[in-house]
Amino acid sequence: MSSSDEEGGEEYLFKIVIIGDSAVGKSNLLSRYARNEFNLHSKATIGVEFQTQSMEIDGKEIKAQIWDTAGQERFRAVTSAYYRGAVGALVVYDISRKTTFESVGRWLDELKMHSDTTVAKMLVGNKCDLDNIRDVSVEDGTTLAEQEDLFFMETSALDSTNVKKAFEIVIREIYNNVS
Ligand code: GDP
Ligand code: MG
Repeated sequence: MSSSDEEGGEEYLFKIVIIGDSAVGKSNLLSRYARNEFNLHSKATIGVEFQTQSMEIDGKEIKAQIWDTAGQERFRAVTSAYYRGAVGALVVYDISRKTTFESVGRWLDELKMHSDTTVAKMLVGNKCDLDNIRDVSVEDGTTLAEQEDLFFMETSALDSTNVKKAFEIVIREIYNNVS
């Protein structure tokens, strides 16, 4: 997190990480939020580490620098550099694959291990458009979020449901934590 005063206007930069099992839709959540794009056959992005998106709160410009893995989560090899300095996190699972929900605890542990500050956390049940093959109930998501003290939202990067909302809630919470 950083805050600077330029020509009287305050500026904030928040680092947010997206974590969760492979293929839950992390990269598509980011591309939907930052560029309004969705990719049906997305491959692990190579080279792009993060995207920056701005929003305004209390008349201040807030820049969210949102980091996406380059597929290293497949090998459980997300490095500490990825987490360093993060003040917000989206922990994503796929509502049509229970194993990805069962991994959430491990991702939370890893996040905790690598953070030395308050991190605003949102549990995200992605692919809610796949309700017909749902494998994790909304109630299971809600219960876990309450237990772990996380915000919770079901999203669809495919049809855009709640994507903007999920990111903006995290960004607002970070702002509340630091201001
Ligand atoms: P990542 O490995 O977590 O970054 O996942 P990706 O963003 O690469 O997505 C993995 C696959 O799931 C791709 O085929 C996407 O098209 C698909 N996908 C991502 N988000 C959604 C969603 O909200 N709904 C549906 N139906 N498919 C999605
Ligand atoms: Mg990805």
